[in-house]
Amino acid sequence: MYEIIDGKSLSMRLRAEVAAHTAELEEKYGRRPCLAVILVGNNPASQTYVRNKERACEACGIKSLMYSFNEDISEEQLIKTVNALNADEGVDGILCQLPLPCHISEEKITDTIAPEKDVDGFSPVSLGNLLSGKDSFLPCTPAGIIEMLHAYSIPVSGKHCVVVGRSNIVGKPAALLMLRENATVTVCHSHTKDLAEETRRADILIAAVGRPKFITADMIKEGAAVIDVGINRSEDGKLCGDVDFENAAPKCSAITPVPGGVGPMTVTILMKNTVKAFEKRFAEK
Ligand code: NDP
Repeated sequence: MYEIIDGKSLSMRLRAEVAAHTAELEEKYGRRPCLAVILVGNNPASQTYVRNKERACEACGIKSLMYSFNEDISEEQLIKTVNALNADEGVDGILCQLPLPCHISEEKITDTIAPEKDVDGFSPVSLGNLLSGKDSFLPCTPAGIIEMLHAYSIPVSGKHCVVVGRSNIVGKPAALLMLRENATVTVCHSHTKDLAEETRRADILIAAVGRPKFITADMIKEGAAVIDVGINRSEDGKLCGDVDFENAAPKCSAITPVPGGVGPMTVTILMKNTVKAFEKRFAEK
């Protein structure tokens, strides 16, 4: 019998804790933490993600400021906006919803966000700190995965973890965090020779590929814990992960569903990072 790793209910619990904490912070410092969210264009998926983040802010007692721009905003204008938010004393965290239109360099925008406000954890400073084991803002999705593993008491130390995907925002930082948790880590990608052979050796399998139901039951070891990061649409238009949940789940000891697994935890870590940014700024004053 497999266990469902319920990221939604875990998130609700954690968000209630964050709300209690932000109420204390407001009492102590006279204001709540504040997150500025930048949205460019009208990509429906991005709009949904941003709405979810706004709702989470509300639930956590975090002030959210929305900056919406038309698709044709120039890179220069966007950089100016980020710099203004960097300098704004009332803003603790800055998030720019990706993807951005092709004429804007995502790297340039991410690099412009001040490291002390980089609550997404995507900046080179945050990623460098992660690599060298220093305290920093952890990228939200990988940090959410670790919280889930801890919350469900899934042993990581000494286990073999296979991460499928090596993006800078999910695969690579997830691998580094699992390494930090003392797992033995294999990272797979599109050039991996025999992917199924690799994934079948995983005690913990993290799928971050972006292909619907790509990881099939035969690619999973009996009793593995499976973390499905993917957010895709299946042929019938339904939301699904990178793992063929229906057929794979009976082989697993624990598995995250999509939706309701990694997604809500990603947003919850964003909330925690925003509170951390606020506390760090006040501690330094
Ligand atoms: P990217 O497209 O940046 O990376 C995908 C990775 O998958 C790449 O490293 C790629 O390899 C690898 N890959 C592609 N095809 C194969 C293959 N046939 N075999 C093995 N590896 C392959 O995606 P992201 O990391 O940004 O996102 C991955 C998924 O997670 C997406 O569905 C995204 O929507 C979702 N996501 C979910 C979040 C959440 O909160 N739940 C947050 C962020 C993302 P290579 O490097 O060689 O090209």
